Amino acid sequence: MRIEVFTIFPDLVSSFASESLLGKAQVNGLLDVRCHDLREHTTDVHRTVDDAPFGGGAGMVLKPEPVVAAIEAADPPRPLFLLGPGGDTLDQDLARSLAASGGFSLLCGRYEGVDQRVVDHWCDGELSIGDYVLAGGEVAAMVVLEAVGRLVPGVMGNDTSATEESFSSGLLEYPQYTRPAEFRGHEVPDVLRSGDHGRVGRWRHAVALARTARARPDLFAHRPLDAEDRTVLGEFGLLDEVERLLA
Ligand code: SAH
Repeated sequence: MRIEVFTIFPDLVSSFASESLLGKAQVNGLLDVRCHDLREHTTDVHRTVDDAPFGGGAGMVLKPEPVVAAIEAADPPRPLFLLGPGGDTLDQDLARSLAASGGFSLLCGRYEGVDQRVVDHWCDGELSIGDYVLAGGEVAAMVVLEAVGRLVPGVMGNDTSATEESFSSGLLEYPQYTRPAEFRGHEVPDVLRSGDHGRVGRWRHAVALARTARARPDLFAHRPLDAEDRTVLGEFGLLDEVERLLA
């Protein structure tokens, strides 16, 4: 899968993409992240990428010429998304569908944003990482790269980690524990050391339901409790609490 990123800070994004899981995925040929420097497509000695907004007002705007020249020179995989607070918000479903695509590209804005003609005529959509304003699209691009890259088949060593983690079943994940079994007087739940895999599975399911009901009851809007949920919640004494939280 190829992902191309247009930015005035290509080293920032490419060094991020060369570490850890994404770095390994690139070495293994599962992922190909290419960063393009918008400044390389300027024509003046100062390598100017921004200019004052028409109509006045604070700040500067990314000029269309270097952005479009960079896009045309690269002919990047489509869709090309502008990163911006007005876009569709990235969530796990969107990350999954991007990971299943052949590739896509990201344009990082800076300053007050990008000349709207670039957005209207050269981009295919807009992606946001949440309802807050960043100083540039680079951190957002890194969030997209990581959320999507780890879901590309083969990138995570253990492919089941993606099917059991938070949001994959519409719930938050169950809590995780490792050795030691007792740490400063706090013990790991007995059931996890029982060796009874069926019971461990039912406990994890019940605790994931309870945890989601406490922290993110909104997630139950599209996933109401079913009969099996009620059974496991009952088995571990959590049914009353969860029903109260979701009432
Ligand atoms: N003036 C703009 C914000 C510009 S912030 C406004 O009020 O909407 C500068 C750049 O940071 C944007 O062009 C965009 O590329 C990036 N950015 C800011 N917030 C973002 C967010 N929540 N998600 C993705 N990108 C964001």
